Amino acid sequence: MLTRSRYAVVIPVSDEDYLFVNTFTGHILQGKNHLKEILDSENPEACDAEAVKILQESGFLTTMSPREEIIHAYDCLTSFNPVQDNLFFVLILTYACNMRCDYCFESYVFEREKNWLENTMSFDHVDKAFEIMETMNPEADTPIHLFGGEPLLYRNYDLVKYVLEKGSSQEKSFIIVTNGLEAKRFIPLLSQHDITSVQVTLDGLPPVHDSRKKKLDGTGSFQEIVASVDALADEKIRVYVRVVFDHSTVRDLPSFMDFAEEKGWKNSAYVSVFLTPQRHHTEGGCFNFVCNLHEEDLDFLVEEESVRDAFWVGLEPIRKKLGLGVDTWIPCTTYCRQNPSQVWLDPHGDIYMCTDTLGDREHAVGRYYPELVLNRHYHQWKERTIFTMNPCHSCKYAMICGGGCAHYVYHEKGTLLRPDCTFSKQARTIYYPLLWRIMEAKKVIP
Ligand code: SF4
Ligand code: SF4
Repeated sequence: MLTRSRYAVVIPVSDEDYLFVNTFTGHILQGKNHLKEILDSENPEACDAEAVKILQESGFLTTMSPREEIIHAYDCLTSFNPVQDNLFFVLILTYACNMRCDYCFESYVFEREKNWLENTMSFDHVDKAFEIMETMNPEADTPIHLFGGEPLLYRNYDLVKYVLEKGSSQEKSFIIVTNGLEAKRFIPLLSQHDITSVQVTLDGLPPVHDSRKKKLDGTGSFQEIVASVDALADEKIRVYVRVVFDHSTVRDLPSFMDFAEEKGWKNSAYVSVFLTPQRHHTEGGCFNFVCNLHEEDLDFLVEEESVRDAFWVGLEPIRKKLGLGVDTWIPCTTYCRQNPSQVWLDPHGDIYMCTDTLGDREHAVGRYYPELVLNRHYHQWKERTIFTMNPCHSCKYAMICGGGCAHYVYHEKGTLLRPDCTFSKQARTIYYPLLWRIMEAKKVIP
């Protein structure tokens, strides 16, 4: 007998339309009330045969009992388990930075004592970090990320050179997340190595950008960063320009996109611009895209053609997580580490697994220097999946959610091993409808 799958989620996207999301198979259909009525019916087999066939083929109607469905889903996930062995590594060369951005998610580290802040990885740290990368994941084929603080401080040139040469000797590639202030001075060095991409941040034209992203002397950084983007692109190094915005700056975005077009960045083979709302240290963690936006800001982003595409690119992490607006979807078994797991190695020899905890030793999951030692936090992070947290195991949102933000829940409840359902609520009420509206506006409905 056919019944509604326990993984069938119905989301209103307009007065008459619904999205039907199967959170296990990843199928998403758009339809009207009659599909909903079939799903809610006590006897679907008596309903419109063609619609029933579509719903059954996409897994919205099933002959399995709820319990059989859970067992089947977890059997499939266990054999597939994409998470635990797929690590990417981030080297924090130093926490020091030559800028002070208003919203820096690491701003708390600038309150630490000068020696701690300005400390850099030694060559011994770098050697050990490469050893640890090999031990923890010899098969890792994702680029090594260089991060900070600011990784491209010219005073640390020899360290950057050492890291790049060491990586290149092992055929590694790199992604560098830099503020771009001194990046130009590194270009001859970067050109000799496999740099997958460099990411910089520009928050708008000078009146907006320079008020938010200041150098240490309090002056703006717009001109230097723009010059670095151009210089990197001239050397055929791929640059991603991330534009961070919030409620106070969202309406300035079109003028920045005009500027990007005039610069030739819009059609450049080497520069891409994407928009991403400011977030971090908030309920829902890194996926909470709306914590600093109002509803009318989202309407603006959907309706304003000049910013829509770049916003769509910035929404890629959520699109991948929800399986909407992407070619393939991978079910989540964890919240933020599914694609793949992140391991941050800092200049003090500590290891972290969450961006929002960097530099706070209470949250370190171990040390890689002088020797690799992993603590109970590491094992809790590894353990924290939808397989192990009871409420998640039987939750219909588990495979789009993954258990919620561990760091937030640790703050609220003092343990990593509890779920946080913020994301799934936002997914139903905000993200799916928003993505669908953008797809309609872009005319990319499948
Ligand atoms: S955190 Fe909540 S919504 Fe997410 S999978 Fe667990 S129980 Fe479900
Ligand atoms: S646990 Fe994940 S989502 Fe939450 S703050 Fe840390 S990295 Fe972000």
